[in-house]
Amino acid sequence: MNIARVIVDVPSSSTNQTFDYVIPEKFQEMLTVGMRVIVPFGPRKIMGFVVDRVSESSFTKLKEIINVLDFTPVLTEELLELGKWVANETLSLSITALQAMLPQVLKSTYEKELVRMTEEQLPEAFELLFAGRDYIPFAEFEAASIRYYQLQKLIEAGDISVDYLVKSRITKKHVTMVKPTKDMYLLEEALHDLNKNAKKQKLLLSFFMEYEKPIEQQELLKKVGTTKSTVKTLVDKGLLETYQQEVMRDPYQNREFERTTPLTLTKQQEEAIAPINDAVQADKHDVFLIHGVTGSGKTEIYLQAIQEVLNKGKEAIVLVPEISLTPQMVNRFKGRFGSMVAVMHSALSAGEKYDEWRKVQRKEVKVVVGARSAVFAPFENLGIIIIDEEHETTYKQEDQPRYHARDVAIHRGKTNSCPVILGSATPALESYARASKGVYQLATLSERTNQMDMPEVKIVDMRQELHAGNRTMFSRDLMEKMEQCLENREQIVLLLNRRGYSTFIMCRDCGHVKECPHCDIALTYHKNSNQMKCHYCSYEERVPVVCPECESDLIRYFGTGTQRVEESLTKLLPEARVIRMDVDTTRRKGAHEKLLKQFGEKQADILLGTQMIAKGLDFENVTLVGVLTADSMLHLPDFRSSEKTFQLLTQVSGRAGRHELPGTVIVQTYTPEHYSIELASQYDFQTFYKREMAMRKAFQYPPYYFLALVTVSHENQVKAVQTTQQIVQMLSQHVGDGTVLLGPTPSPIPRIKDRYRYQCMIKYRNEPNLRTYLNKLKAIFADDIRKNDLLITVDMQPYHMM
Ligand code: ADP
Ligand code: ZN
Ligand code: ZN
Repeated sequence: MNIARVIVDVPSSSTNQTFDYVIPEKFQEMLTVGMRVIVPFGPRKIMGFVVDRVSESSFTKLKEIINVLDFTPVLTEELLELGKWVANETLSLSITALQAMLPQVLKSTYEKELVRMTEEQLPEAFELLFAGRDYIPFAEFEAASIRYYQLQKLIEAGDISVDYLVKSRITKKHVTMVKPTKDMYLLEEALHDLNKNAKKQKLLLSFFMEYEKPIEQQELLKKVGTTKSTVKTLVDKGLLETYQQEVMRDPYQNREFERTTPLTLTKQQEEAIAPINDAVQADKHDVFLIHGVTGSGKTEIYLQAIQEVLNKGKEAIVLVPEISLTPQMVNRFKGRFGSMVAVMHSALSAGEKYDEWRKVQRKEVKVVVGARSAVFAPFENLGIIIIDEEHETTYKQEDQPRYHARDVAIHRGKTNSCPVILGSATPALESYARASKGVYQLATLSERTNQMDMPEVKIVDMRQELHAGNRTMFSRDLMEKMEQCLENREQIVLLLNRRGYSTFIMCRDCGHVKECPHCDIALTYHKNSNQMKCHYCSYEERVPVVCPECESDLIRYFGTGTQRVEESLTKLLPEARVIRMDVDTTRRKGAHEKLLKQFGEKQADILLGTQMIAKGLDFENVTLVGVLTADSMLHLPDFRSSEKTFQLLTQVSGRAGRHELPGTVIVQTYTPEHYSIELASQYDFQTFYKREMAMRKAFQYPPYYFLALVTVSHENQVKAVQTTQQIVQMLSQHVGDGTVLLGPTPSPIPRIKDRYRYQCMIKYRNEPNLRTYLNKLKAIFADDIRKNDLLITVDMQPYHMM
């Protein structure tokens, strides 16, 4: 078995296979599947993953592995298999799929160093190597003729640790600790024996007489006002000892978590959890859909199901949309399971992410709460996967590998024979349809645990407002309610449904709208910098003084950005304190959290924001929710726009009156008669589901049909159209009669970064070989792709039609 099969880090379809390498003698005992290696590839040295060890190769003249990067596999066998599956499902390269499962830090090859973690005697060869030092460059180990296997054993025993040297030192951190080695009375004796000029040494020893515990060297030096050399002198005298300790950067470490205990479940909760617990007990895979209104106690079910899993000695993954991964949410899991919980969140620094990932790898935690990619957490004894707000489209990754976390979760659930729970107040149509057919098990929670009714929703027709002479963006109803709230010292949440509604610059005389010169899309106005920016290619320019078309000076910005709403609020309600939450105010790390905290502490009366405020927030003092523009999503070229509108309105309504105070919701719209708005205001999911399903059936969309979207882009428009045309023709020779091919059509954004974009949409019910055809297509155009900068992307489950 001295040959390794390696997937190399060369993202191209011609290298999308394994390559065989000879394992040099020194690595033979330690190299296992799932480790990263450095191999020669043509003239270069590149990284690769070992996916198999075999004894024979059909190739001759194999090259040797140059180096091994890991001492413990970074990918488990299950994840390697999963990688294959993801690559196949999403038509992506194996290397891309494998990389997607790892924290950023492991995606590049950093310099390493070895860190001594113990003062105990190491094997002689290692004592010689370290030669009294705490850290040594890894290169020194490589130069010494010590077997890798020996090092691997010391690493497993915790005596030596491998550290990655990243420029910003974002990986593991160690601190030097100092502690006394002798009993206190011996220290006291030593103190008296010291020469009276040895003042610093005396100070240090006296410090420990009182402190008696290990202390971080840095801190010690500061407290005592001395230097490392003094510490060293005392270490040499055998009175103190220093050692390295690894610090995990736990982003939540400074917070107190109030411990919670399981609540007595309501009857509906009991009924929902019983079959889940049965599946846990029986190690049986099944998918459960919990359709429960906001506040019906879904999270409590998750917590108790996880407890059941932990009791069996197994592990749990909980996926939460990025946006609702708030401290409030994290606290609920940490509160119940304490330090057994790791949190994987994109707002963490690369180093923090790596630490959280390592807690899983080292089996220091049993529960992971995280956003999409946490579905790849390297647990080896998985007992349950939970997806909260399962309808959220952020579970779909929008670049390669274009996977949907729900599909990955279900696949892992099957491999691990464990249940998968999907929870939502507004399940995705696809999920609800499966549950209706009995493919998933459905549980419905129709009541809030506090027995409170859902808040009343009032729809306001904004056309009437206009007719009545109200030109502001707040209806008279909303204004009146806001004033009342302010008077009662209650709080308000205002949602600006901004998707598809940005602030653009338009000339009032000729109607000219300023577009990006590289992308066919209007530039967005940014007030603070008085710039217009393209959100697709980051082009920017200053706002012109006169219209570039007709030279009129009546050039103004339009649309309702959050900034504009805020301005107008401050004008109309000068006494109100407003917190604005949007991409601009939450860009900085921790800002999101800080703003919410301020609002929770009643430092503001109004929380104004985009989609990001619709989810998971729970403020007891909020009694009014206003939706400023309910229909702004309805006109997007997206067959899910009604569904998204329904979901958003339902979500945001759940924000009001969660506690004792009753709540009101006001929904402003120009299309009050649209069924998604009307039915959301009545909390009528069933009727919405039926109507929307009828639409999907009529227009041949999911869940009745599967979709695949091929997008072709090229600098030359003709080339882009022609290629798409060729693709459509080739596909039409392969697909069955029931399959619909649409295209070539220009993409909804026909040009981005000077590249023209055309697409072909495939609607199908049964095309078992579609993936194979599409792969073949890519192979046919491989030359064009490599030489002529042609780009063909395939999305097997498109959510963004752009
Ligand atoms: P959801 O996740 O469905 O929105 P939560 O789990 O957040 O609902 O529950 C809403 C509120 O009800 C929370 O404050 C929670 O502590 C409380 N709760 C949940 N289950 C129970 C129960 N069985 N008895 C009493 N309170 C409960
Ligand atoms: Zn003009
Ligand atoms: Zn642009």
